[in-house]
Amino acid sequence: MADSDVTRIARRVMELVLRHQRKGDRTGTCAQLPCPACRDAHLARVERYVAAGEPVRFVLPAFPGKSPNTAKVLGVLPDMAERLALEFLGGLTARIREVYAPGAEILICSDGRVFGDAVGIADAHITAYQDELRRLIAALPRPGGIGLFTLEDVPELAGLGHDRRREVLAERWAEPLEQLRKRVRAGEDVALYRAMTRFLFEDGNTPAYTGSRAALQRDARARAYTVMQRSKAWGDLLAERFPGAVRLSIHPQPCGADKLGIHLVATPDNWLTPWHSVALDTGDGDWVLVKRADAERRGARPVRVAGRTSHYALAAAPVLPAA
Ligand SMILES: [Zn+2]
Repeated sequence: MADSDVTRIARRVMELVLRHQRKGDRTGTCAQLPCPACRDAHLARVERYVAAGEPVRFVLPAFPGKSPNTAKVLGVLPDMAERLALEFLGGLTARIREVYAPGAEILICSDGRVFGDAVGIADAHITAYQDELRRLIAALPRPGGIGLFTLEDVPELAGLGHDRRREVLAERWAEPLEQLRKRVRAGEDVALYRAMTRFLFEDGNTPAYTGSRAALQRDARARAYTVMQRSKAWGDLLAERFPGAVRLSIHPQPCGADKLGIHLVATPDNWLTPWHSVALDTGDGDWVLVKRADAERRGARPVRVAGRTSHYALAAAPVLPAA
């Protein structure tokens, strides 16, 4: 294949992904969407796969486990919110196959085991979440192009317990917490730190919590640093294990960053994800992610599928009789 064809195909692949780009919300935001600078930041990686005639591999750290906050989610297992996100990713690989026959592989690198202790998700719940995620991925139309990789799949951590795996991850791949704090204080990753602190504060602020708001805020800040430290360690481990892969992210990213932030399902909140929300059938053919309490406040009714609640639905707009 001529070099110009490789570049042309790689650009088309990236443009399909960039249609779903998650806009950054502070400094370093893209001037236009889809953004040519963000496309070009990943082009060389895509070109290498295309030149070799191999599927383009994307690595997406995501799908950790459901938030422990039942005002946001339905329970501990993946539900319609995850199903929509997986169907979206499967659809994206299908669209990539139309412009590049070898297609793409999106490797979901579930990170719940990496920081579950810091966000308050029990290991048993993470196991159940991952098992159900595997079932949902297996049920996608073939060839799905979606894979799942977890902390348990890291050969260097084989045979260890969950706590020990997290310790070794931190020892071998993490940057010291003090260094991370220093970077955030200097203005790096501030949007991520604030969003993380907000999520952890909200998730801890349950009716069962009896302490002060200030103490909860302090605790949320400390845990936000741990989550960021482990997430970054996970990202570095993945970069080592899957060199050459295009790195996707579910968070907004600065323009031209080495990670590309994408949306999995439409959401009114730029930071909302399927595991912090429920799927809401708007009644006019659209789906949107909202917090569970918001769906209930809007009068949506819970819909059961296969014996458990899967999502919420608003009543369809009444059909007017023909004049
Ligand atoms: Zn950009």
